[in-house]
Amino acid sequence: MSNRTFTMIKPDAFSNGNSGDILSMIERAGFRIVAMKKTWLSADKAGEFYAVHSARPFYGELVEFMSSGPIVAAILEKDNAVADFRKLIGATDPSKAEEGTIRKLYAESVGKNAVHGSDSDENAAIEGSFFFSGMEQW
Ligand code: GDP
Repeated sequence: MSNRTFTMIKPDAFSNGNSGDILSMIERAGFRIVAMKKTWLSADKAGEFYAVHSARPFYGELVEFMSSGPIVAAILEKDNAVADFRKLIGATDPSKAEEGTIRKLYAESVGKNAVHGSDSDENAAIEGSFFFSGMEQW
């Protein structure tokens, strides 16, 4: 059971001014913010982050969207972090997300879906170190 996960507030939620509300939901759900920054991915960096999806038909659209504006990247800590955070954000497609989840409340579509949450302990570590170095100090 891991106690860390990685999240991004995606460009749609950031530009709609929902970062504060989303961070508040995250903290109220018991996650501690270990590291956080606002940044803006280049298309190259977004492509690298989502390389695992490079064969999918939506890859181009995903890279364009994720490099379209600022994001907030953060490492979060809580018991059972990966699974609990996936539950808090809800299904990839907001029309299928449970009531009260972040995506149900703030996502527009399956592509512009407000937040990212790592899907495994291994990916949480890889994705966290994509944005933050020297994590052992946190
Ligand atoms: P997640 O783990 O819930 O984020 O979902 P996936 O790993 O399946 O997909 C990664 C991201 O790709 C999603 O969060 C969406 O932003 C995007 N994505 C997934 N499916 C689609 C799609 O059908 N169309 C578009 N445009 N983007 C998609």
